[in-house]
Amino acid sequence: MSNESGRVLPDVTEESRAFWTGGFDGELRITRCQACRGWIHPPVGACWRCRSLDVAPEVASGKAKVAAFTVNHHPWLPAFPPPYVIAVVELDDQPDVRLTTCLVEVDIDSVGIGMAVEVVFDEQDDVAIPFFRPVAA
Ligand SMILES: [Zn+2]
Repeated sequence: MSNESGRVLPDVTEESRAFWTGGFDGELRITRCQACRGWIHPPVGACWRCRSLDVAPEVASGKAKVAAFTVNHHPWLPAFPPPYVIAVVELDDQPDVRLTTCLVEVDIDSVGIGMAVEVVFDEQDDVAIPFFRPVAA
């Protein structure tokens, strides 16, 4: 589904609702195992580490590091004028938890692996999409 801007928006499920709507309260909500305390993403109903079904969204720090990135130069969608940076970021809370996202408010030439970034939210209809921007030095 896309909205007026041409953005393709996520299908919000019961398990992913906290992730996609936490941004309206300024919170990056990531599923967390209540048994072993491991963070889990994408949101699922069970912990892959300890197999506990006791998982629930919690507020993560919103701080992360760039683990991988690419710069898109192709105008795939009118809502996304190139160039823009698509990145995989690893959460400071637990670095093996990674989000695929876009970097915003960034000088493209300054992006590098390990760059410290923080979450910002792009509100679109009934979801608030987590993007990341460089942490101010
Ligand atoms: Zn667990």
